[in-house]
Amino acid sequence: MKNIQMVDLVGQYEKIKDEIDAAVLEVIGSAAFINGPAVKQFQADLEDYLGVKHVIACANGTDALQIALMALGLEPGDKVIVPSFTYVATAEVIALLRLKPVMVDVDPDTFNVTAEIVEAALTKDTKAIVPVHLFGQSCDIEPIVELARDKGIPVVEDNAQAIGAVYTFQDGSRKRAGTIGEIGTTSFYPAKNLGCYGDGGAMFTNDDELAGKLRMIANHGQSRTYYHDVIGVNSRLDSIQAAVLDVKLKYLDEYAEARKKVAGSYDEAFEGVEAVQAPVRQPNSTHVFHQYTIRVRDGRRDDLKDLLAEEGIPSSIFYPVPLNKQKAFKPFVDPDLELPVTEQLCKEVLSLPIHTEMEERSVKDVAQAVGRFFS
Ligand SMILES: *Cc1c(COP(=O)(O)O)cnc(C)c1O
Repeated sequence: MKNIQMVDLVGQYEKIKDEIDAAVLEVIGSAAFINGPAVKQFQADLEDYLGVKHVIACANGTDALQIALMALGLEPGDKVIVPSFTYVATAEVIALLRLKPVMVDVDPDTFNVTAEIVEAALTKDTKAIVPVHLFGQSCDIEPIVELARDKGIPVVEDNAQAIGAVYTFQDGSRKRAGTIGEIGTTSFYPAKNLGCYGDGGAMFTNDDELAGKLRMIANHGQSRTYYHDVIGVNSRLDSIQAAVLDVKLKYLDEYAEARKKVAGSYDEAFEGVEAVQAPVRQPNSTHVFHQYTIRVRDGRRDDLKDLLAEEGIPSSIFYPVPLNKQKAFKPFVDPDLELPVTEQLCKEVLSLPIHTEMEERSVKDVAQAVGRFFS
């Protein structure tokens, strides 16, 4: 059996090595390492790709979330609705800014928050909503944004995992995930769908005023050189990473197709396996399969993971513990909070290898190993 990996960044690099190497060497040769032309070019190209007015690059996806919340002018203690079933960064920045995370449950099929769930958690102190487009598909964002606008509450979409996914509105119009709320954020962590060769992130908005604030906060709150209007942070995407990303952006849709093909093969293979629930598609979003995450229904998820490991097949649990049960969040959440779907998912989810270079043979090997386990 060929060595199977969760992601194959070396194989991906080898196919575009000449372009990447040239782009990186050009930055080094120009010594424009910080805010150089490569950063401006990448921001402009990503604006075109996403169909959004402003892309503001920053140092990583966590910073993007933090800067987005800082730009909204919230006060300490203001409540921010966020799913508990997500990567820690989404809720961490809320607590860090002394805002109050209101952790909510998710839909058992799509693993995403819904307007109903958000509405049930709304109070007069709710000052922002941070939905996450988990594993590669947009949540049903239109009713969430409608509900929020109705109440004058901004929406920050955490789009670290679904860049490129397309959401279709009731009227048939389409937009890319992350460009629908007031601000969208993403991460260019290497293993993300659009990954650089280090750390990186970005914020998106169609609002000129918010764009100005985001830019200012990411740059020490500076309005012009050495004049600081607000307290900010230092969060930059360096030019070498921007050059890498600008090359990879051209392949992003192709990469999504490759992932989708792997997902389709897994789906087929798991049709007859009763204990395995394949990823359920959100009807009005495309899926870019940042992860291919199954639910193991018979309580044997951990045994399956062990068996796969014995056969040399890696797998990951995103996420093993609900954020509201994490030690770090103890001071921030109600100890009696019960989120039954999230609890169940943490016991049942398993993400299988999926990446842009994955061969049909490897997909079959993984699927057959899963099949053998349940036979
Ligand atoms: C990766 C990720 C982040 C954080 O991105 P970094 O670039 O690692 O800081 C935030 N939210 C979600 C959902 C993520 O998957």
